[in-house]
Amino acid sequence: MIDPAAITGVAAPAPGASAALAPGREWLRLPVPGSLRHINVWLLDDGDGLTLVDTGMNVPEARAAWEGPLDGVLAGRPLRRIVCTHHHPDHAGLAGWLATRHGARVWMSAAEYDLVERAYREVGDAAALAARRAAFARDGLEVDERSVRVLSGAGYLGVMSGCPADVGILAAGDTLEAGGRTWRVLELAGHTDGQLLLHDPAAGLLIIGDQVLPHISANVGIYPERRDDDPLASYLASFDALEALAPEPVVLPSHGEPFQGLRARIRVLRAHHGARLEAVERLCREPVTAAEAAMQLYRGALDPLNRVLAFGETLAHLRLLETRGRVQVREHPGGPRRFVATTPGG
Ligand SMILES: [Zn+2]
Repeated sequence: MIDPAAITGVAAPAPGASAALAPGREWLRLPVPGSLRHINVWLLDDGDGLTLVDTGMNVPEARAAWEGPLDGVLAGRPLRRIVCTHHHPDHAGLAGWLATRHGARVWMSAAEYDLVERAYREVGDAAALAARRAAFARDGLEVDERSVRVLSGAGYLGVMSGCPADVGILAAGDTLEAGGRTWRVLELAGHTDGQLLLHDPAAGLLIIGDQVLPHISANVGIYPERRDDDPLASYLASFDALEALAPEPVVLPSHGEPFQGLRARIRVLRAHHGARLEAVERLCREPVTAAEAAMQLYRGALDPLNRVLAFGETLAHLRLLETRGRVQVREHPGGPRRFVATTPGG
């Protein structure tokens, strides 16, 4: 069992640099544009090669880090495996580029690979774009010209580096030998359809991706490309699986610093979503569209991406309230549907 303080006491590397966590396990940081600023990725030493967990986004500053300082960390050894926890561009954006450079194989869950593969297949597809527009219009979200880039997938593919051709599929219950350790694979939905987590039970270490983050709440939203139609229910169910891990592991998150106290953090996140569900239910005292509810919850000017994220997150809360019988849907032919609370004053 690893000493938690030996992990949580490690100073965070600057973006483009690395820090040793434990023998065979290295913490790398890559720059990400926007408010996130960085992503943590994990390098596991397999002797004659390396396993990388997550890649960074396909932006010039992240590629420069891989070509410059991080190339020294690899010490001339190739990446043999690249595990992407999920399809988001800060996690999988450089998978194609790094796989080509190193001759590495990319590993993902089937659900996440499906999201990447479909994004490439459907970009520029007028029918797919029309279906997404219709899905948003159904909930009252107007799609202006700036949002089309988000909706069409062009924005996403702009920070990806190709669809990896040689992809291995990992699923819950699989094991992965990497960095001299045996990692058990978990696959959890909610933030996305099938995020991979790697658990080393013998060391008490958990690579958690974005499933639980120490300082921010991961986005949980309904989007046309996702197959899960009640992601908040899936997300809350994933907490049960994480709370069952014993002993409580030290967590390696994709954003922020490694931390101990997973169950305490989950309590905070459960309370956050509980309060958000109550707030959304209150907004439904009068019939409201998802877009109107999102504007009430997230005030201020949002850029097109964050506008879609706020909308998707609000819709996910409405959907769970609907599942629980707290709100009903009223369809309006020719107009957006509205949600209304089933308990007066609820
Ligand atoms: Zn993510």
